[in-house]
Amino acid sequence: MIYPDECKLCENLIIDTHAHYDDEKFDGVRDELLIELHKNGVDKIITCAVDGISAEKTLSLAENYDFIYAAVGIHPENLESKTTVDEIRRLASHKKCVAIGEIGLDYYWTDDNKDLQKEVFESQVILANELDLPVIVHDREAHSDTLEILKKHKPKGVLHCFSGSREMAQEIIKLGMYIGVGGVVTFKNARKMPEVINAVPIDRLLLETDCPYLAPEPYRGKLCHSGYITLTAQKIAEILGRTRDDIFCRTRENAKKLFNL
Ligand SMILES: [Zn+2]
Repeated sequence: MIYPDECKLCENLIIDTHAHYDDEKFDGVRDELLIELHKNGVDKIITCAVDGISAEKTLSLAENYDFIYAAVGIHPENLESKTTVDEIRRLASHKKCVAIGEIGLDYYWTDDNKDLQKEVFESQVILANELDLPVIVHDREAHSDTLEILKKHKPKGVLHCFSGSREMAQEIIKLGMYIGVGGVVTFKNARKMPEVINAVPIDRLLLETDCPYLAPEPYRGKLCHSGYITLTAQKIAEILGRTRDDIFCRTRENAKKLFNL
């Protein structure tokens, strides 16, 4: 069974705007899982690369499956891959590439290469603007530097797995960007999230999983997949006093608009 308890949907409403289906954790189950998800309510998936090799794999998934779209980019934790921005430019010309991502700053794992992280991030934001593509941004413990680069170049896009304050969410909204919400909203220690979600207009929210990571409660720590997005939508619905399917419908329109799906 692919969906937890009674979460099975009768319509294909789900768009997972952030996944990593090229990840080796899916080896051996990937194709079967993707086919099963698509049969059971997952209408579209954007799968994000983290470097050049990952981008090749991501694009071939998008070629194999109509309902899968790709984002290509260099993740701040993958700078040792030596993938160049020119390679990303070449890969981004693929017809199934809908965004530049996953890109951004991560000072949680290491902050002794801040200058290089900022340089690689900024040049990919510039590339996205040049190609008229949205960015999918990762920001971990790097809120002010992330915001500075976004304010300077004003790309369209999403701040994924949002972990900032309400004030930061409002800054992102002011820039015209979207807020990506994933399984973390269901975690018991996600105290700031209800406040953030209440402060974001519903037409700026996107649903995502970041699978295979960040499975929502009660599956925290397990292999995550796009079907678990139902639990994230349910939690947002509770916070906003809306129905879960309303959250699916509204965020689906947002995803279609931003990524031109
Ligand atoms: Zn990710």
